[in-house]
Amino acid sequence: MLVEKNVPLQSCNTFGIAARAHTLVRVRSAQDLQALLADHRLARQPLFVLGGGSNIVLTGDVKPVVLKMEIKGLRLLEETDKAWIVEAGAGEVWHDAVAWTLAQGYPGLENLALIPGTVGAAPVQNIGAYGVELQDRFHSLVAVDFATGRPFTLDAAQCAFGYRDSVFKHAAPLAEHEGAGLPRGMGLAGRAVITHVRLALPKAWRPELGYLDLERRRQELGVQQPTAQQIFDWVCEIRRAKLPDPAVLGNAGSFFKNPTVTPEQCQDIIARDPKIVHYPMADGSIKLAAGWLIDACGWKGKTVGRAGVYEKQALVLVNRGTREDSVTGGEVMTLARAIQTSVYERFGIRLEPEPVVV
Ligand SMILES: Cc1cc2nc3c(=O)[nH]c(=O)nc-3n(C[C@H](O)[C@H](O)[C@H](O)COP(=O)(O)OP(=O)(O)OC[C@H]3O[C@@H](n4cnc5c(N)ncnc54)[C@H](O)[C@@H]3O)c2cc1C
Repeated sequence: MLVEKNVPLQSCNTFGIAARAHTLVRVRSAQDLQALLADHRLARQPLFVLGGGSNIVLTGDVKPVVLKMEIKGLRLLEETDKAWIVEAGAGEVWHDAVAWTLAQGYPGLENLALIPGTVGAAPVQNIGAYGVELQDRFHSLVAVDFATGRPFTLDAAQCAFGYRDSVFKHAAPLAEHEGAGLPRGMGLAGRAVITHVRLALPKAWRPELGYLDLERRRQELGVQQPTAQQIFDWVCEIRRAKLPDPAVLGNAGSFFKNPTVTPEQCQDIIARDPKIVHYPMADGSIKLAAGWLIDACGWKGKTVGRAGVYEKQALVLVNRGTREDSVTGGEVMTLARAIQTSVYERFGIRLEPEPVVV
């Protein structure tokens, strides 16, 4: 277990916000984690788990002990009639894990290519892109309880996955946590760390082309039955064209979740804004494109202080500062609140931020 003090975090978050961790522990194995939790000086303090820092906004120096997840490992755990079950260490880079599964001949993750961050964070917000969510390929995960140091396994139902949501995004009273079981919906935010994720990659694979950009690419290239590798390549190309590369322009991807409304609310908005981008959902609700709402309020390309709205996609907030003079988390959140206010005033819809504010 490697314990470091006063560690700069600017290169550990994709926004490029300059902040420090008072204490940072690099967790490279289950043994590291056990050593940390057995160390009373460290384990008695609040803990914060850090993966690739691609879904956080740092609003100052981080006082909780930072657990930087660096557990590696990719392996085929099991093969059943229906699927390959692959296990990945929490510290593996998500995109590398996707590429590895394809190279082994296990398709299924190609639509989720190029999402920044680590494997361990993927279940936290049930990452999703281009018509596939983690929960569609999820088998189970192994996590360690901060209070007891004991590992436990959760299946998909116990993770309570939702749209950019899971049991790891919700807190719960300690008393609940001390129970023997882990009932559905129980909050685990700040109470456990994911060490391994198991993915079920289907043998009866079919391309997922429901997303317009992908279908358009298939038609342009005249491909009848794309392979998983082709979809992987198309997803990478589309993402590179649409989203800013955090290495060049700091950002945390989509800053707000796409809100859902009732069909009546949607009709009301359509009456005022006929061009509103909306998608009917299986449960009868309507999903609205948050980026469209923000754009309609005139925010695209705007800058407030050193925080800006990306000129190609209004859903992405960016760091307009420099490495030496970077945006602060406070500036990002001030801009985010101004956007929320104008969207609420115009459409009556409250946008919810996607990244975790630390
Ligand atoms: C350019 C860009 C594009 C993006 N596109 C997408 C997209 O298409 N779809 C999508 O869903 N997301 C997207 N994101 C968001 C982000 O990539 C994902 O949320 C990713 O899973 C975050 O991983 P991370 O390792 O960086 O997590 P971090 O930012 O380090 O952490 C995020 C949260 O997860 C917790 N956490 C991290 N690791 C663990 C662990 N091992 N155990 C328990 N808790 C943990 C942290 O405490 C924190 O609360 C994008 C981000 C960027 C910058």
